[in-house]
Amino acid sequence: MIVPKTPEQVDKMAAAGDILARCLKMLKKSARPGVTTLDLDLAAEKFIRSQGAEAAFKGYNGFPGSICASPNSMVVHGIPGSYELKRGDLISLDVGVTLDGWVADAAFTIPIGPVSEPAVQLLETTKDSLFCGIAEAKAGNHLGDVSAAIQERVERDGLAVIRSLVGHGIGRRMHEDPQIPNFGEPGKGPKLEEGMTFAIEPMVNIGSPEIRMGSDNWAVYSEDGSLAAHFEFTVAVGEDGPRILTPWHED
Ligand code: MG
Repeated sequence: MIVPKTPEQVDKMAAAGDILARCLKMLKKSARPGVTTLDLDLAAEKFIRSQGAEAAFKGYNGFPGSICASPNSMVVHGIPGSYELKRGDLISLDVGVTLDGWVADAAFTIPIGPVSEPAVQLLETTKDSLFCGIAEAKAGNHLGDVSAAIQERVERDGLAVIRSLVGHGIGRRMHEDPQIPNFGEPGKGPKLEEGMTFAIEPMVNIGSPEIRMGSDNWAVYSEDGSLAAHFEFTVAVGEDGPRILTPWHED
């Protein structure tokens, strides 16, 4: 059962999302060679607290960090620590913010200095697939339209959608119904209604779509060690299209 939010509730999620977007922009500026993922974690927590909000990931199912920081072949759920960013890395940063009991969730993958041409392509395609997916998040469409648009965009460029990690509904809790696969068939799945709120998050590998769990039981890696990317917005379904509640792409 997917319960649409009222316009007032969507506005509250947007307030959390605004803090989150500004946090991600701050992290983008801070992520330079020599900076550790723990440095980024501490900066994010400090920023989020300074806005009167909380880092939603901290303590979630026992997760120790305030953000997830996942370099290179790590797809998601990296625990921040002593890893030092270096030129040529990709770093995926995923942040959750809770404000007044409402949650927003968003992520991006950014390059540290110049990166390889395949890495540039991976980032462009994965980011674009997120925009293709959310363009379908309008009332009257089906959830499968979102999933299919992401898959079509990724596979057009010969990249691999990870199938065992999915997006999700979001609201008072970080993970609500439904699951949102990054692959599917148009016209299938639940019908979208105005006020439904989703975390849409394509996760893409350059090589095989298979993944493996790291030894800390958090980090998820591409199984073949190929580079991975992750882009995510929290969005609300609108009459004519999506409302992006975590606008990290805007300057
Ligand atoms: Mg998410």
